[in-house]
Amino acid sequence: MEREQFLEVYRHSLAHILAKAVMEIFGRENVQIAIGPQIADGMYYDFLLPRGISTEEFPQIEAKMKEIMKRKEAWTRKEVTKAEALEIFKGQKYKEELINDLPEGETITVYYTGDDFVDLCRGPHVENSAELLSVAYKIRAVSSAYWRGDEKRDSLQRVYVYAFPDQQQLKAHLAMIKEAQERDHKKIGKELDLFMFDETAPGMPYWLPRGWKLYQTLLAYSRKLQLKHGYTEISAPLINKKKLWVISGHWAHYQNNMFMVPGLEGFVSADAEIPGVLDNPMDGLDETATVTLPKGAPVFNRDLDDTMGAKPMNCPNAMMTYTTSGPCTATRSCPSATANMTCCTARRSPAR
Ligand SMILES: [Zn+2]
Repeated sequence: MEREQFLEVYRHSLAHILAKAVMEIFGRENVQIAIGPQIADGMYYDFLLPRGISTEEFPQIEAKMKEIMKRKEAWTRKEVTKAEALEIFKGQKYKEELINDLPEGETITVYYTGDDFVDLCRGPHVENSAELLSVAYKIRAVSSAYWRGDEKRDSLQRVYVYAFPDQQQLKAHLAMIKEAQERDHKKIGKELDLFMFDETAPGMPYWLPRGWKLYQTLLAYSRKLQLKHGYTEISAPLINKKKLWVISGHWAHYQNNMFMVPGLEGFVSADAEIPGVLDNPMDGLDETATVTLPKGAPVFNRDLDDTMGAKPMNCPNAMMTYTTSGPCTATRSCPSATANMTCCTARRSPAR
């Protein structure tokens, strides 16, 4: 099995095991299970529970998961009708809602782990829980998440789990996270009094006196090197129309990591509720949560030609200086080397 396929299958399957474990610990009548997708380093599952899960309980849940795997239960896939699915998940309000939202006539699949746990899922999964015994996993955290990302709806507990093919890979991942936290520029910048961030300008630093001095020193050094190697310096616009990002490929590949600025004609007032809007698309796989925008909410259509984007990189603007005035002019001989010294901004996922 390919590594990617393996990751997907066992992380998915492990999410079912987690749900089964939580149901056994809390009593199935006390647990409402929501969704449990895989994410970049494992998976999570959202639950509505009678009380909060504390970090002290993580080992108990992990042990329960192991106990379930050791039962070596078979996994059975079953295709059911909408009516049958509603019957199977009777009393599980989130599953009922998901089933009701499915288009008529769509094939619905459910997966049984043993005969006492069933989940609504497309699969694929392992054929037997025994296949998961070699998987290395660890509960990372519990955080709250609104059902379907809607703050007007239930606040659920999201249990995050790291999951890797073996202990060695899990250990390496945990070590990497620890190192990343220690080297986190946001932490170091504050400790050394170099720069700060404020929530009103996400991803954009305030340079403090010490930091600005450092910045200027590095800039001066960089200019000295550029001069030595024959580079000339330019400065370019910070915001560009969508057209440039389409040409550069950022629109297709990087749109969710850019700060978007609606153009002059961009804002409209929503003439109806808009469901299914990604709550926070910058977190990639983690963010499956969606919100509903109310009627009348100001929205803008990203796809309009006058939508602008703050630049995450300098190269497309530097290219423009070639395409508009030509690479070789009286004042710029070919081949010419240019350094675009303007700053860039990009939306980033918050560090975990
Ligand atoms: Zn599944």
